[in-house]
Amino acid sequence: MNAPMNPRKLRVTTTSLSGCFGCHMSFLDIDERLLELAALVEFDRSPITDIKHCSQHCDLALVEGGVCNAENVHVLRELRANSKILVAFGACAVNGGLPAQRNHLDVGKCLSQVYRTPDGSATAIPDDPELPLLLDKVYPVNEVVRVDYFLPGCPPSADTIWKFLTDLLTGRTPRIEHPLLKFD
Ligand code: SF4
Repeated sequence: MNAPMNPRKLRVTTTSLSGCFGCHMSFLDIDERLLELAALVEFDRSPITDIKHCSQHCDLALVEGGVCNAENVHVLRELRANSKILVAFGACAVNGGLPAQRNHLDVGKCLSQVYRTPDGSATAIPDDPELPLLLDKVYPVNEVVRVDYFLPGCPPSADTIWKFLTDLLTGRTPRIEHPLLKFD
């Protein structure tokens, strides 16, 4: 990948909302190409850096996972407010993915079942104020904030992620076609 004329490194932030980190693992699977990427970008808030809040001027946000609780909403809005381009990264971010399988169930009834005491006579649902409030459903990212690009796949392959990033970082409109474009 040729470095763009502008020597400023692009600031990239990544997060996992209601995801399994599989999309981040696939990202790391670009392997030695990470060194090429490191010449062009610097990571802001991300599991890669362990920075907890993104700074105000990010160029690119990669969002893994759907939106299942109040903290997810807060994090997602912060990324949207501080990023020029936001990408729904992987099936869970694009359409809710596996976590959205709970969407046809009643959350209250699920919690009651899971946290029933061993003798079944009562429930002990955790209610510590530190715990983020669960939403009634798991929402795709675009139902909460504006999304610039959707990158499907569970997870998108390392080659797909690389093609997407190199298109974007060198100023081309990302174009993912078969066989890199997958929805499973
Ligand atoms: Fe995990 Fe697949 Fe969701 Fe990515 S899309 S967070 S790999 S379940």
